[in-house]
Amino acid sequence: MFGKEFQRKYALTDQGVQNTVQATIWTVVVNLVVMCGMGILQMMMSGYMKTLTEDAPLPKAWVFLLLVLGFVVLSLLTHLQQYRSTYGLVYREIKTVRIGLAERLRRLPLSFFGKRDLADLTETIMGDVNRLEHVWSHCLGYLYGSYLSTAIIAVGLCLYDWRMALACLWGVPVAFGLLFGSRKLAKRRSEETKAAAIQVSDGIQETLEEIREIRATNQSDRFLNALNEKIDRHEKTMLRGELSTGIFVNAASVIMRLGVATTILTGTSLILSGKISFMPLFLFLMAITRIYAPFDQALALIAEMFMSQVSAARLMEICDKETAEGAARFEPKGHDIVFENVGFAYDNEQVLRGVSFTAKEGEVTALVGPSGSGKSTCARLAARLWDYQRGAIRVGGVDIQSVDPEVLLSDYSMVFQDVVLFDDTVMENIRLGKHGATDEEVRAAARAANCDEFVEKLPQGYATPIGENGAKLSGGERQRISIARALLKNAPIVLLDEATASLDVENETKVQEALSRLLVGKTVLVIAHRMRTVQAADKIVVLAEGKVVEEGSPAALLQKENGIFRRMTQLQSASAAWQI
Ligand code: ADP
Repeated sequence: MFGKEFQRKYALTDQGVQNTVQATIWTVVVNLVVMCGMGILQMMMSGYMKTLTEDAPLPKAWVFLLLVLGFVVLSLLTHLQQYRSTYGLVYREIKTVRIGLAERLRRLPLSFFGKRDLADLTETIMGDVNRLEHVWSHCLGYLYGSYLSTAIIAVGLCLYDWRMALACLWGVPVAFGLLFGSRKLAKRRSEETKAAAIQVSDGIQETLEEIREIRATNQSDRFLNALNEKIDRHEKTMLRGELSTGIFVNAASVIMRLGVATTILTGTSLILSGKISFMPLFLFLMAITRIYAPFDQALALIAEMFMSQVSAARLMEICDKETAEGAARFEPKGHDIVFENVGFAYDNEQVLRGVSFTAKEGEVTALVGPSGSGKSTCARLAARLWDYQRGAIRVGGVDIQSVDPEVLLSDYSMVFQDVVLFDDTVMENIRLGKHGATDEEVRAAARAANCDEFVEKLPQGYATPIGENGAKLSGGERQRISIARALLKNAPIVLLDEATASLDVENETKVQEALSRLLVGKTVLVIAHRMRTVQAADKIVVLAEGKVVEEGSPAALLQKENGIFRRMTQLQSASAAWQI
């Protein structure tokens, strides 16, 4: 019952399965103890009834008193234990699951994130785990415990009087049959609702991110209408989902209740035909309320249980993804980066086809080529942000795919166009480059990166909060902060994606100065856009359609008749002249 399939169906950890087993056992015990209470009541009733109809002695009150007292104590203890095993354990477990999930996400290759959008992932971490938490704590133990205890009680009742037992219990399998029959529909509705919810959060996120463009282009109405439509659709799918499960759950509950009527009918007809006395009917009527009680709770939650399987499947999808693993030690001989016949595709379309080149230590190697030729992809692969699929990439002779990505990255500094800044002070944003760096070290790096003069103008200097993702800084300033980070880290390899268009001349010169300090003696792989950088590079690798088409020093490539690099240089200088 609680095998591997069950574990996957509800995304339970091994500990979670153990907890469910415990909760089930305690639910069985509680249900049986409550039934014992009914037994005591029945004994009491029949004892006193006998004194009315026969000449029997009055039952001893203290015996019943003791029995009732014992029942109360036992009931209290078992309920407490059941509470502990259903709620207490689950709440501890949920923490482990969330931390495990975060840990897993941290180790997943970027290819995973490329295929899923942020709203979807957030929904899994927050929404799906919440939904599962409720199912783990409120449903599984109760439901399975109730199945078992009802089975035990049903056997007992059948032995007592099978005709009455049948009249009393027929509704339970019919009700559950109906619910299980509707499971597919519930699942489909749940998937629809989830998809609609993700669209709404996507829409909100998009609108907030683009708010400036939306206002600037007078598109507010259009965006709001689109968002309204999404919200309406979500509401409709949710209502439809609730309605369809509600109909089945209530129908099941009514069917189960019909058991009371059939018990009374069967009981009275059996009494009238003289086959049983009044007491068995009384016993069954009492039992019936107790049999239905745990199911009542379970019925209300069973729809949620079916729906939770969609959440569990989404969670398992993350857990099933292979994480990027590798050795915890990285001891390369030098830091030359060598691409050997590297092949790579994000999806089906091949982006790199047999790329080979070497970026030497102490040199600046510039990747040049038309947009979409695969320059950024090469830089991402060189840092194992994505894993290559064919060939090999080695750093100092070590295949990077054999090294733990986090260990590997400690040898890399990345200065990319989309600098990520956190809503913290300037000081902390730079300190991110080196964990535990002193304030003095941070200041020195900031000075070398030409951050000093703009930081000084900020109201609280280095202690100024810079807003979410550095909203209060200009493009050039953000880039200088990221260079300061890299300087602080002082890693032997620097991957650099030059930002161009957004920088004014003054900023550009400052950034250039900062970079020249950062790059000394490192292995530098730069995605070059500016001719100035390209001319200053030690080596140029020209990419086109995912292949290396030219390679060599700038001077050598400029000599090449009909060379792509030569043509690009001519085009750029012509457009520069035109701009002036
Ligand atoms: P470049 O840096 O030379 O402009 P890229 O390496 O960014 O080129 O892109 C090469 C190709 O890969 C392009 O066709 C681009 O559309 C595609 N590509 C880039 N990033 C992704 C991604 N995350 N998912 C799918 N395709 C991508």
